[in-house]
Amino acid sequence: MSFIKPIKRMLLWELVRGHALTFFYMFKRKVTINYPYEKGPLSPRFRGEHALRRYPNGEERCIACKLCEAICPAQAITIEAEPRPDGSRRTTRYDIDMTKCIYCGLCQEACPVDAIVEGPNFEYATETHEELLFTKERLLANGDRWEAEIAANLAADSKYR
Ligand code: SF4
Ligand code: SF4
Repeated sequence: MSFIKPIKRMLLWELVRGHALTFFYMFKRKVTINYPYEKGPLSPRFRGEHALRRYPNGEERCIACKLCEAICPAQAITIEAEPRPDGSRRTTRYDIDMTKCIYCGLCQEACPVDAIVEGPNFEYATETHEELLFTKERLLANGDRWEAEIAANLAADSKYR
């Protein structure tokens, strides 16, 4: 009917409907979170910041087999290695250029000893390129910091691997 539109306009109908909708949603379950104070759930398979892990006795897991370096499609990983006096093989250099990394997770998949992993941390934005050139020390520090979460994620995902 042609007179309904002018009446709706007079009563500011759209405004009323908008307010009613807002009022209605005040009582519904919130779908937003107060980030960074609240965080949403992450999958155990989440591929975040890389880390190099150690065994519980503090020894590095990495045996310098270079499978991760070979499989990395972005050629982001650079490894140098030499034998230790006890004959074990360990890396002397393990760098990841995080600006090349495409977070495919192949390095983690290739590693026979679960040394290189993509951990749950996604909060490592930087202001410079240099800060994203990760060294072995940085990667080991990440592993030390996130070991509990990484181990729990690997355990949760183990039956699918
Ligand atoms: S996640 Fe993929 S691109 Fe990134 S370092 Fe590992 S293998 Fe390379
Ligand atoms: S991180 Fe794993 S795959 Fe890469 S060199 Fe070390 S042991 Fe090999």
